[in-house]
Amino acid sequence: MSTKKSGKSSLTALRNAVCRANIELYKRGLAHFTFGNASGIDRERGLVVIKPSGVPYSKLTPANLVMTDLDGNIVSSKLKPSSDLPTHLVLYKAFKDIGGVAHTHSQYATAWAQAWREIPCLGTTHADYFDGSVPITRAMDRAEIVADYEANTGKAIVRRFEGLDPLKRPGVLVGAHAPFAWGRDVAAAVEMAAIIEEVATLAHHTIAVNPNVQPIPDVLREKHFNRKHGPGAYYGQR
Ligand SMILES: [Zn+2]
Repeated sequence: MSTKKSGKSSLTALRNAVCRANIELYKRGLAHFTFGNASGIDRERGLVVIKPSGVPYSKLTPANLVMTDLDGNIVSSKLKPSSDLPTHLVLYKAFKDIGGVAHTHSQYATAWAQAWREIPCLGTTHADYFDGSVPITRAMDRAEIVADYEANTGKAIVRRFEGLDPLKRPGVLVGAHAPFAWGRDVAAAVEMAAIIEEVATLAHHTIAVNPNVQPIPDVLREKHFNRKHGPGAYYGQR
């Protein structure tokens, strides 16, 4: 088999996976109207596949997704890419181990983002996926908003992750905006977007029941995170 053929088939597989992931965002109620987008990357070729801008989820097909290089140059498409593409590209360049990014305006996570509150780790459901809070970015200044807003959104996320491992905290709230999630591939990124919405909902209700609740102790958080993701992970089937 020629490399050309296998390259083509892996890009077809990427298109199929990104299409399925975007439809999944919609089906799970994480993205209403045309809000939200998911992308995946072929690291070997440096090519990103993302949802086209403004196309309803019911009209998405693998063929109408947009493929670009890491600088945002369109490789194949008649449609414009999602306007959030520059944010995705900044994340792919900075976080070398991620293979997919998902952005939603899911209700509870977006409420936390609008309230400028990171989501504290209040229980083991959260600790199973995040080794700490779901962080929040700092406010962007006027110049960052006026020009290159989407790329600057990505840069604000990357700055927030200085000293943090993006695979141990696979998502973020962009203040006044909404969550971005990522993972090893696009399906994992969408799964993480759903998990962030779940922990945002749980944290909201937990604080309603007890406004004085505190984050769980480090030892309990680390136990839960590491039994699923640490070097000696033992959760689930091997
Ligand atoms: Zn958005």
